[in-house]
Amino acid sequence: MDIHSATRSVQRVVTGMPTSDGAGVKLTRVIGQELLPDLDPFLLLDEFGTDKPEDYIAGFPDHPHRGFETVTYMLEGRMRHRDNHGNEGVLVPGSVQWMTAGRGLVHSEMPEQQQGRMRGFQLWLNLPAREKMTAPRYQEFGPERIPSATPAAGVTVKVIAGRVGDVAGPIQQPATDPTYLDLSIRPGAQFVQSLPPDYAGFLYVFEGAARVGTEPGAKAVQAHELAVLGEGDEIRITGVSAGADGGTARAILVAGRPLREAVARYGPFVMNTREELQQAFADFQSGRF
Ligand code: MN
Repeated sequence: MDIHSATRSVQRVVTGMPTSDGAGVKLTRVIGQELLPDLDPFLLLDEFGTDKPEDYIAGFPDHPHRGFETVTYMLEGRMRHRDNHGNEGVLVPGSVQWMTAGRGLVHSEMPEQQQGRMRGFQLWLNLPAREKMTAPRYQEFGPERIPSATPAAGVTVKVIAGRVGDVAGPIQQPATDPTYLDLSIRPGAQFVQSLPPDYAGFLYVFEGAARVGTEPGAKAVQAHELAVLGEGDEIRITGVSAGADGGTARAILVAGRPLREAVARYGPFVMNTREELQQAFADFQSGRF
């Protein structure tokens, strides 16, 4: 083994907490809960997945955000978003919305369906102090604009952000330089991805199972488990035959540059100091978002 390279191991495995948010949408909070309050620069990860309309139909009526980015990645179902600056659109299966809330906006996220399955993720990504009050911005891409890579036999990767070989994702975010990959790995197939050694990273398996690391030290990660990655300049993920169907492992691999700044957060406001949080409340209440 090259002494200059280190494969990332699994530091710990975390299971999400069932909760509800918005007007009563049932979801699983994986980052942003007691077991994993944050993973700098990541503030929150919610997985939502249900085919019961009563679990999602109330949606997320008008609410504010300031100081960070929300990343919504839809696997199934349709969600309409609308903000107080005149932006509106429908997120369809396979689409991503990377919303930089910056100095603030008020928006709603409501199901655009009365029945059927709703499934996906919302990730909150912090902004550095110098960009918390930037103008709100959307990077929104339909499924046809998210490129796929096949870096090895039995491995398919949708590249939302970052790079897999020659395939680059459409998202631009220099501050945290994120990688966001949607992985499909057949049992026995292996995906190797280089990552900057000091970046925070996690793998969240949402179907099947995978092993992370190099044998004999590799660790199994089951569906609906998040693996916090240790440091290293690459990650090795091997698909494992799991369940009755022995199916393909599906997971998101997310990494980014830690900000290492103070975090003052309360609900939908994430700033650096208490004073900035109080200002966020005051600005929201007086309609300055
Ligand atoms: Mn929101």
